[in-house]
Order: sequence, then C-alpha cells, then structure tokens
Amino acid sequence: MSSTRPRNIVIIGGGIIGSTTAYFLSHHPSYNPSRDSITILEASSIAGGASGKAGGLLALWAYPSCIVPLSFRLHRELADQHNGRERWGYREVAVGSIDLRVKKRSEARETNGDGVSLQKRSDDAVKKLQKAGVPEDLDWVDPEAVYGYEEMAGKGETAQVHPYLFTTSMAALAQEKGVKIIYGMATSINFSSSPQLNVESITYTPKPSTTSETLPATDVIVSAGPWTPQLLPRAPITALRAHSVTIRPSRPISAYALFTSIQLTTPRSTVLTAPEIYTRPNDEIYACGEGDRVVPLPPTTADVEVDLKRCEEIESTVRSVSEVLDRGEVLVRQACYLPNGGPWVGETGVRGVVLAAGHTCWGIQNAPGTGLCVSELVWEGKVKSANIKSLMPRGV
Ligand SMILES: Cc1cc2nc3c(=O)[nH]c(=O)nc-3n(C[C@H](O)[C@H](O)[C@H](O)COP(=O)(O)OP(=O)(O)OC[C@H]3O[C@@H](n4cnc5c(N)ncnc54)[C@H](O)[C@@H]3O)c2cc1C
Repeated sequence: MSSTRPRNIVIIGGGIIGSTTAYFLSHHPSYNPSRDSITILEASSIAGGASGKAGGLLALWAYPSCIVPLSFRLHRELADQHNGRERWGYREVAVGSIDLRVKKRSEARETNGDGVSLQKRSDDAVKKLQKAGVPEDLDWVDPEAVYGYEEMAGKGETAQVHPYLFTTSMAALAQEKGVKIIYGMATSINFSSSPQLNVESITYTPKPSTTSETLPATDVIVSAGPWTPQLLPRAPITALRAHSVTIRPSRPISAYALFTSIQLTTPRSTVLTAPEIYTRPNDEIYACGEGDRVVPLPPTTADVEVDLKRCEEIESTVRSVSEVLDRGEVLVRQACYLPNGGPWVGETGVRGVVLAAGHTCWGIQNAPGTGLCVSELVWEGKVKSANIKSLMPRGV
C-alpha cells in the first residue's frame, strides 16, 4: 500500500484506544498533514466511557502477553517525552493482595467509639502488620483487620496513570499534530463491493443535529469500545457495567494498588467482597467493585445509569478498612461499561477497516501498544513492533 496516496483516516470512538491510536497515527513519519486527514469521530465526549472511569493500573503481568511488554514500555516513554508524571500522574506503584476482616464502619464506631487510630500505632499493631508481611509504608489500613498480605510485583513491574488525564492528553497531543475531533455518532461504515470490499465513507449524525452526514474515508479504525458490535455486528465483544468511587483521604497516603479480599461484618450478616483500591498521585483513592449485567448498554456514555446503592456499597467497604479513608470525602460516584471479549487488533473483511476494541480490564495498560501497532498497519501495511497475530479479528 503506497504511503504517498492521500489518506482520509477516520477513528470511531474517542476512548483511550481511539485517542492513543490518533496519537501514534499522527506521530508516524508517513503522516503528511497537508496531504492526509485524521479524524476522531466521538459520539459523546473524549474519555466519557470506561477510559475516563477506570483504575489506571499498568502491569507487566497483565494480558495478552504479545502486547503487554511493548505497551508497558511505551507508557514510560510517553511519560518521559510529554511530562506525563505531571500531566497524567504516571508513576511506579507497589501492588499487593491483602486479606482483611472488618466491621462495617458505622457499626465499628458504635462498638469502638471513634474507630481505630492508624496514626499512632501501638507496638502490638506494628508487630501484627509485620507478621502479616505488610510493608512498613502501607500505614493506612487498620492493623487489627489485616490477616495476610502478599506483594504482587517486583520493582519496575507495575505503574499507574490517571486514565482520564492520559486519554484526554493523547487526544490533545494528536490535535496538536493536526488531528480533528468531530462530535457525532457513526451510524454506518460504507464500502464498495466491487472488485472487492473496500471502505469508502462513514455516515454519522453530528451533535446536536439529527441530520446524517457523510465523511469520506480511505481507512477506518473502529475503536468504539463496548458499542463496537453496533457497527461491526460480528465483532465478539460484550459489555459489562462496573461502578466505582473516588475518595479524598483525610491525609495524603502512600502509593499502593491493593487487590483486596474483605470479610465485612454487620450485625445482620458477614459478606465477602473484593474491591480494588488504588491510591493516585492527585491525593485521591479510586475503588471499584464487581461488574453487573442488570442494565443493558445504553445508546451513549452520557446515558449510563449510575446505581448509587452500588457506589455506596463500595464506599462503605472502603471506609471500613481504614480510619483515614473513613474520614475522607467522596469525590465521584460513577459507572461505565467494560468492553469484554478481546482485545481484537487487526484488519477486518473490508479492506481499510481496522478493528481495535474489546480490551477487557487491561485497556489502559494496552492502549499505547495497540495505537502503535494500528499506526504501523495503516501507514506501512504491516505490524512491526509486536507479534499480534493472535489478536487478529476473524470473520468480522
Ligand atoms: C471499573 C474498571 C476499572 C478498570 N481498570 C483498569 C486498569 O486499572 N487498568 C487497565 O489497563 N484497564 C482498566 N480497565 C479497562 C479499561 O478501562 C478499558 O479496557 C478501556 O477503557 C477501553 O477503552 P476503549 O477506548 O476501547 O473504550 P471506551 O472507553 O468505552 O471508549 C469508546 C468510545 O467510543 C465512543 N463511541 C461508541 N460508539 C460510537 C459511535 N457509533 N460513534 C462515535 N463514537 C462512538 C464512545 O462514546 C466512547 O467514548 C478498567 C475498566 C473498568 C470498567
């Protein structure tokens, strides 16, 4: 495929996959802004879905292994190149799995008065934490509640970003190189069928209008997350709703991403729960719970229904593990839909249409690797940086 013919590249979806793909397409040496156009077509807002509401953990032990090391390295390089430590909170973070047995905080207060102080640790409490293997600087969990701790990564194997800030920064850096963002909903991918299936254009409804418009396209990247099957019905991608909260603790706390297993006791029952709790550089913690399929995928990210009861359940569990979190302020209660089933990265049955979606719970980790591979596929006709044959969509 010649890189000198004019290209009109349309990326459907401004989540982390679409935005990072726009970044790499526009930073590729073959891109010539006076000849080629790159457009992100986004139905609601950049990072309005899972990409703005995820945890942001990056790990060398994530999956799939064919793209993880490349993507993990690219995250560090992007942070070095664009001041990502300041701009999107890139930093290394320790990760552990922790076993806790707690009383729901409201009940703990009833029985213990003002809760358990974490700031002044008794010798007994310190010994208990050491026995459980808890690192010394993880000083914001209730020592009485810890029944086990295990490190989940060696030094340099895990890091984190603030997903909303990372995604919007990728889109902004792409715009600086000439990428356009159009707000509107893609409704169909149009192609000629002779002599072979060849993409020609996208039909979309610009916001806030209701009249359809057409965008010519030589290349289309479908990165519409869980909405992808609405455009490519044979794409094996499903949607799972997940709730999360962010809390500002009552004092700054050390950097940890904790995979918890919590036995939570109330006067009426004991339940097992397992929220992930991550500290973030901007003085907040992020916690998410399990997914549900109670409400089907709505038309857009703006229509996602937030079940406040599910947020409160996460919140009250998190508050119970620590006084410093119990006294914290809840900043956000939110929900989004995880794109499950992939990731799928590669050409489809229609020439010029590339699928990049279905990234499961590792889309933040795997976005830069995906973006780089797609940019090579579009500009050079083949992927050079990783062997992603196993991610090729088949029959789509
Ligand atoms: C609770 C939770 C925690 C997570 N934590 C982590 C983590 O710690 N680390 C990690 O690596 N991953 C994590 N993930 C996974 C990660 O968030 C996702 O894999 C990733 O955000 C998917 O990005 P995406 O761009 O494919 O999809 P999305 O973020 O859903 O973006 C798709 C975009 O496409 C747009 N769109 C859809 N249809 C159309 C259309 N027809 N026309 C135009 N635009 C359209 C949507 O408006 C949306 O903006 C987490 C996910 C969840 C739910």
